Amino acid sequence: MGSSARLQAPTVPSSRPIGAYALDQAEDGKKAGGPPDYAKVFPRLFESIKDDFVSKRKETIRRNLSRFLARLDGEELDPKDAARAEEMLKRLKDEHGYCEKCAAEAMGYLLSVRG
Ligand SMILES: [Zn+2]
Repeated sequence: MGSSARLQAPTVPSSRPIGAYALDQAEDGKKAGGPPDYAKVFPRLFESIKDDFVSKRKETIRRNLSRFLARLDGEELDPKDAARAEEMLKRLKDEHGYCEKCAAEAMGYLLSVRG
């Protein structure tokens, strides 16, 4: 976990109606006959797919964080979760200088602010 753990809110696309871009392009005579760029034609659709991906990833992160906290609480985890928690603790100690108590506090905070 480092700065890469920061999860940024997805940017809100412009409020132009769906398809407006495609119409503009057609009027300008661009992209004649070529395949449309769907990410631009349907920005909202692509944003919602991205949001869905981000929220699923977020669930994984939340789960891993709560397993990590359970491990620090002395709970016995299944091997996969235990290995992940050990790795996380090792990195927090070695790379960030946290002790177990600080790691628990920091991760508990992270879990609470991420909603
Ligand atoms: Zn400490």
